[in-house]
Amino acid sequence: MRVREGFSGTVGHTPLIRLESLSEATGCTILGKAEMLNPGGSVKDRAALGMVLDAEARGALSKGGLIVEGTAGNTGIGLCHVANARGYRCLIVMPDNVAPEKAEVLRALGAELSLVPPAPFAKPENYYHVARRLGEERGGFWADQFENPANFTAHYMHTGVEILEDAGPVDGFVTSAGTGGTIGGISKRLKEENAKTQCYLVDCEGSSLVGYVNEGTLAVEGSSVLEGIGIRRITKNFAEAKLDGAFLGTDREAVAMSHYLLHHDGLFLGGSGALNCVGAVKLARKLGRGATIVTVLCDGGGRYQSRLFNPAWLTEKGFSVNHQDLSFVS
Ligand code: PMP
Repeated sequence: MRVREGFSGTVGHTPLIRLESLSEATGCTILGKAEMLNPGGSVKDRAALGMVLDAEARGALSKGGLIVEGTAGNTGIGLCHVANARGYRCLIVMPDNVAPEKAEVLRALGAELSLVPPAPFAKPENYYHVARRLGEERGGFWADQFENPANFTAHYMHTGVEILEDAGPVDGFVTSAGTGGTIGGISKRLKEENAKTQCYLVDCEGSSLVGYVNEGTLAVEGSSVLEGIGIRRITKNFAEAKLDGAFLGTDREAVAMSHYLLHHDGLFLGGSGALNCVGAVKLARKLGRGATIVTVLCDGGGRYQSRLFNPAWLTEKGFSVNHQDLSFVS
């Protein structure tokens, strides 16, 4: 029998998909790690499980205990699944401007949900600080995905290894960063295997990381409609990343890519996975024909149906989505 052990045993070992339209258009082999096929629906299942297993091993969490986390949604969803499967409760703090689909899922999973108005990181009202305070007040385990090394370790020990098992050493890797766990763990693993693998960040508008990687400065301006990515400080998880450079990907490019992949490849992705594919096309153009490039398909489009796949929202925001070729990627 080839069975997986419960929810925890089903996280990971996601398929690596050859993205046909992008591979054909660029002359490269562009591969997407299908993280939306994790049992909780996103790449963050890995970090959630990794942080809980680590807390259990350290004795920071015991049966019936409370897990507290601030999240744009996916980490909270992953934590709720893991908590239900392993006998814990969850208190999730989330900014109230994220897609309503995520709050609905969290409620359905049984989370205690605290929606807070968006606030800059420097303010005590920012969801990160609210989660830390609630964790202290309630005597819970604050997962702290931004600074908790169990986050990047899950990708270093698993996601990066799986990519190497499935694809062998690759020419390029590109992904975006929210906490930096994904890019930190995978780039570190790929670089250790082959120092020549070109590892790139693709950063969204309003994030400071592209400037940090390319120029060493943390500029702060702009904003993005993409959720779960973009950050204006260097987290411990991002600091693990081994990078050769960074691209900026715009909202316009990411939204166009999400519809392009749906119509050309039948893939229904969220905005960050689409931005990563924009990054993969940019890296393909940089490395040239014949290169093998891996990126991450972080979550599915259903989590953003009321926005990215809603004609009224697209019109209101001024996004155009009917593209026959990849000329929308600059
Ligand atoms: N995409 C989505 C949709 C996410 O929720 C996240 C997590 N914040 C990411 C990408 C980025 O992953 P990481 O936190 O590992 O940088």
